[in-house]
Amino acid sequence: MAIHEVTDEDVLQRCARCGSGNRLALASLEVGVARREDVDDGLVQFPPCPACRSTEFLIRAAEGESEYPAPGSFGHLHRLLVGHLHAEFVQRGRLHTARKPKGGGASKVLVGPLSQEARERWFPQGLRITVPPDEQPRAPEESSR
Ligand SMILES: [Zn+2]
Repeated sequence: MAIHEVTDEDVLQRCARCGSGNRLALASLEVGVARREDVDDGLVQFPPCPACRSTEFLIRAAEGESEYPAPGSFGHLHRLLVGHLHAEFVQRGRLHTARKPKGGGASKVLVGPLSQEARERWFPQGLRITVPPDEQPRAPEESSR
């Protein structure tokens, strides 16, 4: 699952299975995937690919996840885009309808929007990834944690 571009209106997704590009309106997507009684607010579910019916999810990086090992690689930029997209949905209130605050208080969804600095450094041409996925360096085996 990969997204290649995010605009104010839509997101360009490239299907991992058949490789077709799908442009999806941001207004048609939301954060949160129901799992039994709970909702996982770290996921964004995409509608099935029109070409092959494959369903994909965007998974936001977990809290406290270490820096991406290869800055500027597809994987790194993709993670930044996913974090941005996720934060954008939360800001717009596009949360799964089954998601209810626990304990009465307003629930806080962790978000990781792009900083202005990161945006200028990695996405000077707009929020799109131009590095081909196959040029992504292999993630190092040893963890920096
Ligand atoms: Zn497909």
